[in-house]
Amino acid sequence: MNQYLKKSLLSFIIFTTFSYESAYQLSDNNNNIEFVDKELSKNYDVCVIGTGYVGLVLGSGLAEIGNKVICLDIDSNKIDLLNNGVSPIFEPGIEDLILKNTTSRNLYFSCNLADSIKNSQVVVIAVGTPQGPDGKADLSAIYSAAETIGKNLNSYKVICIKSTVPIGTWQKVTKIIRDSCPENCDFDLVSLPEFLREGTAIYDSFNPSYNVVGTNSEKAVNILKSIFKDLFNKAPLLIVSNPTAETIKYSINSFLATKIAFINELANLCDNAGVDISEVTKCMALDHRIGKEYLKQGPGFGGSCFPKDVQALIKIMEEYNVEPKILKSVMDSNEYQKRIALKKLYHLIGQDLKNKTITILGLAFKSGTNDIRNSPAKDILEELVKSEANIKAYDPVAIPEMRRVFSKVNYCNSLEEAISNSDAIIIVTEWKEFTELHDLLPKLDKKPIIIDTKDILNLEHLKEQGFIVDSIGRSCKCK
Ligand code: NAD
Repeated sequence: MNQYLKKSLLSFIIFTTFSYESAYQLSDNNNNIEFVDKELSKNYDVCVIGTGYVGLVLGSGLAEIGNKVICLDIDSNKIDLLNNGVSPIFEPGIEDLILKNTTSRNLYFSCNLADSIKNSQVVVIAVGTPQGPDGKADLSAIYSAAETIGKNLNSYKVICIKSTVPIGTWQKVTKIIRDSCPENCDFDLVSLPEFLREGTAIYDSFNPSYNVVGTNSEKAVNILKSIFKDLFNKAPLLIVSNPTAETIKYSINSFLATKIAFINELANLCDNAGVDISEVTKCMALDHRIGKEYLKQGPGFGGSCFPKDVQALIKIMEEYNVEPKILKSVMDSNEYQKRIALKKLYHLIGQDLKNKTITILGLAFKSGTNDIRNSPAKDILEELVKSEANIKAYDPVAIPEMRRVFSKVNYCNSLEEAISNSDAIIIVTEWKEFTELHDLLPKLDKKPIIIDTKDILNLEHLKEQGFIVDSIGRSCKCK
């Protein structure tokens, strides 16, 4: 049983023992066991609509600092899991936080949006805003949540948009709430962008670098200060207008994506020029005008945010008659980069992959998460499944997610199983576990080609042991 499953089971046992009865009443109805939610008459400080990576971490964090929070979702499977003490997402520390705060009765989960909204002082919208078919952010979940809030607006509330939304969404949401609410509805609409990173989401929530609150209502700011308590004192609090807050979120994500795309192109130059990118970025990081973050070369940026947010900002710029030349080339450059590992593979092994075994290590878009949205591994697998190669894949937590996308891949239960009998290994995610390859590779009967796109292995050492190796931006160390 892997660590994740073990932990989930343990949490489930402790959770059911100590807190299930407090949230649910067990009744016998015609021999059917039925759970009756009796907590919905309570008053909550905050209700969070959307219990995904952002909503769940936010809700649990706000409960941890002493608020009574209810997290809501239209996905009843997610809510069932959570009410059984199991997190539907992999995020380090999240199950402990959920367990602690459900046990102390600060945190609840429900599908009953109407009652929960009515009984809450602050309502946070944290639903998904995925890329739509036209490249713009799909705001249908935001609008649907806004309508539900409007219909259930029974007293003054602070309504916050946590989701990443284009400039002007706050006005549309305000109108939807006004149009659907009973007469004289009273609320303030706050744009409250989120800056957490998956994999370190809990740390990020408790240690913000800054907080952005977009509103012109002093009343709303004061209520939020009482909810966020020390989190608002720990870091600069920027109170700005709604559209400024909306713009800040896209600006930051797009700038970071641009930084990554730039370093990736530079790494490709280093490969061809016989220079080591890591020595170049080490010096760049010392320049305070540049900073050390997001200077790591790799197989292209992915995840649920950067690609869709850059694409959405391109569309926003076009709507405002600005030619998004830089951002368009960032997207082009990233598409190219996502296939660079395959180019290196074909160069080393040939185009014909028939009867070849190729192992992909790492399926999540980054380590510390099971999120595979836009992961570079997905692009690589998409091309490999069209070949006649035997494809093996391993990831400590994201196999169930990738299995739903590519069923023909041979998913392995361990790193050892994944690398045995392989012709080539491509490392696509920087899981710490993969550094064990230094011990495992020398024991193999057949020496695979190794393409380390995340720069986690000592390539010179492996080369000395007779392995053919390649990397991104450090090829001079491989030849
Ligand atoms: P997610 O897809 O993990 O979760 C969204 C949840 O909302 C899902 O569980 C879905 O079932 C639920 N939902 C959809 N419509 C609903 C409705 N009408 N009522 C109730 N629940 C509903 O998304 P996420 O990754 O948590 O992202 C949420 C938002 O935050 C997005 O706008 C994203 O861009 C932004 N954001 C994400 C991150 C991140 O790292 N994931 C970081 C910062 C900002």
